[in-house]
Amino acid sequence: MSAVRDLVSPGRCVGCRLVGALLCRACAAALRPAPAGGPQDGVDRIVAAWSYEGAARDLVLALKLRGLRGAASPLSAAMCARGREAGTLARVVTWVPGRARDVRRRGFDHAEALARGVAAGLGLPARRLLARTGAARLDQTTLDAPGRRANLSGAFVARACAAPVLLVDDVVTTGATAASCAWALKSAGAPRVEALVACRA
Ligand SMILES: [Zn+2]
Repeated sequence: MSAVRDLVSPGRCVGCRLVGALLCRACAAALRPAPAGGPQDGVDRIVAAWSYEGAARDLVLALKLRGLRGAASPLSAAMCARGREAGTLARVVTWVPGRARDVRRRGFDHAEALARGVAAGLGLPARRLLARTGAARLDQTTLDAPGRRANLSGAFVARACAAPVLLVDDVVTTGATAASCAWALKSAGAPRVEALVACRA
C-alpha cells in the first residue's frame, strides 16, 4: 500500500514516473496482452486486456487501493480495445460490485468506474444488476478453486435481466467471482454472460 502511494501520483506514469499521462506510451507498449479464455463455470467467455504485471498491475492498484479514479481511463480504454477485437454479443454492461466497506473507504466502486468507461466506449448501457449478499464466509485466499466456488455461490444476487451481459471487473484470478456473478445473472434470466476484465493474474 505504501509502495503504491509512493509510486503513484496523478501527473506521472505509474510504470516509470515520467511526468504526463498515468500510463506513458513506452510503458503501454511494454504491457503483455492476456490470452482470451474460453467458457468457464457458467461464464461464456473471459476476455482480459493485459496480464497482471508491471504497469498494468500498478494501474489496478492505483485505482483500487489508492482510489485514483483517473487510473480507470487507461484501463477501460484497453478493455474496450480488447473487447472490440474479440467481439461481444452483450447488450448491457454491469460490474462485480465492491465490498461496501472498500467502496466507502475509496469513495467509489472501482469496478463500476471501469464498467462505465467500457460501456461508454462500446456504446452499451451500464446497469447496476448485481448486489453482494454477504454470504461468502471464508477468506478466499485460504481455499482451493472448488472451495472458492462453493464459498462464493450465493454471494451475489441479480436484478432481472433478459439481455446478454458483459460483466466487468479489474482482475480475474481463478474466475470464481465471475462464476458466482454469472450464476446469479443467469438465475435472473440473462441468457449469456461474458466477462471483460482489465487483467488476468
Ligand atoms: Zn511509463
